[in-house]
Amino acid sequence: MDNLQKADLEDFHWQMELMGSIEVGIVVLNRQFEVKLWNEFMHNHSGILPSQIRGKSVFEFFPEIDQEWFRQKTDPVFKLKSPAFVIWEQRPFLFRFASYRPVTSATEFMYQNVTLFPLPSLSGEIEHLCVVVYDVTDEVISKQRLAAVNQQLQKISRVDGLTGLYNRRYWEECSAMEYKRCLRSQGKSSLVILDIDHFKKINDTYGHPTGDQVIRTLAKVVKDLIRETDLAGRYGGEEFTLLLPDTDIKAAELVAERIRKAVEETIAEHEGEQIRFTISVGVCEFNASFKDHRAWLEQADKGLYKAKEGGRNRVVVT
Ligand code: GH3
Ligand code: MG
Ligand code: MG
Repeated sequence: MDNLQKADLEDFHWQMELMGSIEVGIVVLNRQFEVKLWNEFMHNHSGILPSQIRGKSVFEFFPEIDQEWFRQKTDPVFKLKSPAFVIWEQRPFLFRFASYRPVTSATEFMYQNVTLFPLPSLSGEIEHLCVVVYDVTDEVISKQRLAAVNQQLQKISRVDGLTGLYNRRYWEECSAMEYKRCLRSQGKSSLVILDIDHFKKINDTYGHPTGDQVIRTLAKVVKDLIRETDLAGRYGGEEFTLLLPDTDIKAAELVAERIRKAVEETIAEHEGEQIRFTISVGVCEFNASFKDHRAWLEQADKGLYKAKEGGRNRVVVT
C-alpha cells in the first residue's frame, strides 16, 4: 500500500468515525427512497440498526412520513440539484423520535429541522439525496417557555399599554372590591364612565395612530384631574371608567363636569395635526340595591347612553 492510498484510507476511516459520533442524523436515500446510509444518531433514536433498514424503503419503517408531501419536497432536490429545508414550525419532525429531555411534560417527541441536499454521483447525476436531521428540541422548548412567560406577564400586568391607565381586567377587580367595601361600610362612592364622541370619525379622518394619540391625550387630562385614590381604567377602545371612592354623587358630578370641560378645551396634537374632541359621561353613586359591581357600572352606562342621546359632550347622572 503506497502512502497516498494509506492517507485516503485514513481519511475514510476518520470520516466514518465522525459520521457515527456526530449529533445529527444522516440518512442517504436513493430515488426509490430506499435507505443507503443510516448513521449512529439515527440508530440511537429509532432503535433501528443500519443493517435492518439498509436497502428498504424509508416509508416502510416510518409510515408517519406523508409520502406525497415528501416526494414533492424532494423533487427539486433530484431535478434542480438544489437543497430543500423543512423547519419545525412547518412540521415538528420528519422522523418521530421520542424526546429524552428530563422535562418530558414539555414535549414527547424530538423537534427537528431537516435539510435535504443532493448527492451527485461521480458522473454528476443525482441519484441520491442526503437527509440531515437536527435535533432542535431544546431551542423549541425555550422558545415555548418564553412565550408562556410573556403571556403570563401580560396577564398579571395591571396597566394598559397605550394610556398607562389600569387595564379593564384589573379595573374590574377593583370595582368588585369597592362594591363589597361600600356594601359593608354603607359608603358613598361613585362610578364614572366616559366615551369619546364620534371617535370613528377621528379615526377615519386622521388615521388610527392619530386616534391613538387622542386616546392618550384624554388619559392625561383624566389623570391630571382625579385624586390619587381614584382609579382610572381603560375599559374599552376609547371608553374609560373611573372609581371615585368616598365621593358622593354631587362631588362626582363636579369631577365629571370638570373633566368634560377640560377635554373640550384640550387640543390633541399628532404629526402636525391639531384635533379637538369631546366626551360624553355617565355618573352613578353606589347603591346597596345593585346586585353586584356590574349592575353599578350598567347603571352608570345608562347615563352615558342618555348623554349620547341628548346630544353628546355632556354629563348625565343616573
Ligand atoms: P359615539 O359618539 O356614539 O361614541 O361614536 P363613536 O364613533 O365614538 O362610536 P364608538 O364609541 O362605538 O366607536 C369606537 C371606535 O373606536 C370604534 C373603533 O374603531 C375605535 N377604536 C377602538 N379602540 C381603538 C384604539 O385603541 N385606537 C384607535 N385609534 N381607535 C380605536
Ligand atoms: Mg365613542
Ligand atoms: Mg365607544
